[in-house]
Amino acid sequence: MSAKEQENSSCPSQSIELSRFVEGALTGKLRVALILGLTTPVDVFTETARCWKRVEETRLVLGITFAVSRVLPGCADVELDLHSFGDCLEDGVGVVARMLPAALLKRHGIGELRRRHSRAEGRSYLSNGCVHCDALQGRFFEHELGYELAKTLEVEARFEPEWGPLMEHAHNDIYRWWFDERG
Ligand SMILES: [Zn+2]
Repeated sequence: MSAKEQENSSCPSQSIELSRFVEGALTGKLRVALILGLTTPVDVFTETARCWKRVEETRLVLGITFAVSRVLPGCADVELDLHSFGDCLEDGVGVVARMLPAALLKRHGIGELRRRHSRAEGRSYLSNGCVHCDALQGRFFEHELGYELAKTLEVEARFEPEWGPLMEHAHNDIYRWWFDERG
């Protein structure tokens, strides 16, 4: 990664003078996994796709980012997606439905996020659907997307402490150390 890229990265790192760091570490300023139980803005990233069924346009949710850095400056954001919830949490479908209700999504051209049956996979899973006809937009298809991601809406949500251990793919971001420079 170049210095420029590092500067623009969504995982900012903190630069702290060693003596302040040591003093802070000894006085409880060095914290880990602050996202657990924290309420943060949540950025929802989508991309426009053509519904395979009726060739109409719909937006698919490809990224759900807990913007921790906007609450705790210098602390890394946690980038998740639909499958982080659907695959890792027992009630992932309910969690996402409460965080991103269908009516809100519809106003942004996004289909309801709910469990749908996939004939291709022979099972049902938390999925994107067409905003017009509700047809499942398969997750396999998402690999072809991601080139024109745009932040489409922002909500606020609490990252429940019990989600942390379950979202193994995101442990590097969830269990990050953070030096509390406040006050
Ligand atoms: Zn459709």
